[in-house]
Amino acid sequence: MSNDDCIFCQIVNGDVPSRTVFEDDTAMAFLDANPLAPGHTLVVPKRHYETLEAVPEDTAAHVFGALHRLNTAVQHAVDADGANVAFNDGPAAGQEVPHVHGHVIPRFEGDGGNPVHAVAGERPNLSDDELDEIAETIHSQRD
Ligand code: 5GP
Ligand code: ZN
Repeated sequence: MSNDDCIFCQIVNGDVPSRTVFEDDTAMAFLDANPLAPGHTLVVPKRHYETLEAVPEDTAAHVFGALHRLNTAVQHAVDADGANVAFNDGPAAGQEVPHVHGHVIPRFEGDGGNPVHAVAGERPNLSDDELDEIAETIHSQRD
């Protein structure tokens, strides 16, 4: 399924140009138009899903496989020392384009960036009981 208003659907459909670095029937990857580092790449399912929760598990696994291969290819291509691989899942997490996409952001020693821990706000101070309850609730929500 495609959404006419979605910029990534337009890229998938070939209506908007992109620097495509990978494509198969299910997934596609292209360079970010406003890169945070050389080689910054986005990996998307071809079908339009807004958030990770909406993506069927087989598609998610396929996209992760592409992300895994591209993480290596991108780092080698730009001679990176590492990468942050992440999804902004939902507007509260900073997602601006509502079509699921994984970022591969190459990192270089001394580049002045931060680890993924820097994305959240103030750290909560959780008691052992609260941590136990959260863990139990997550466990009970699994499929
Ligand atoms: P988000 O904040 O949704 O996780 O990230 C969206 C990303 O998409 C941003 O890094 C932004 O630079 C990139 N982006 C937005 N519009 C376009 C576009 O038209 N083409 C490409 N290649 N990247 C885009
Ligand atoms: Zn879309």
